[in-house]
Amino acid sequence: MTDCIFCKIARGEIPSKKVYEDEHVFAFHDINPIAPVHFLIIPKAHLPSLYECEAGHEAALGRMLSVAGRLAREQGATDGFRTIINTGRVGRQEVYHVHIHIVGGPDVLPGMLKR
Ligand code: 5GP
Ligand code: ZN
Repeated sequence: MTDCIFCKIARGEIPSKKVYEDEHVFAFHDINPIAPVHFLIIPKAHLPSLYECEAGHEAALGRMLSVAGRLAREQGATDGFRTIINTGRVGRQEVYHVHIHIVGGPDVLPGMLKR
């Protein structure tokens, strides 16, 4: 998937404000932040969405979550944050390379969903 924008970001072919990188994952600031802290954690290997996840992706998916708290704290979300994974049409996914949004900052988040 060479035309995938997040693959290109992970490979450094499109510039981004990098937060973190290891053998499995890449993290970078969202280009259009919705909160003072808003960055994305992606697997380096292309994976369109949670619909395509299988056991073989567990190392990368686990790493995405296991680094989230430390990176959030380092970015200034020291009193909590929200993790969001949008999937498919109903989830309003825009970029089809799976990603976790880490969203935080001082008291900026509304309740989870309107009831
Ligand atoms: P989704 O709706 O797919 O969960 O969210 C995609 C996110 O990717 C959006 O928040 C959008 O601002 C961000 N995004 C899209 N293109 C780029 C880009 O080229 N660079 C960065 N840093 N973020 C991007
Ligand atoms: Zn990709």
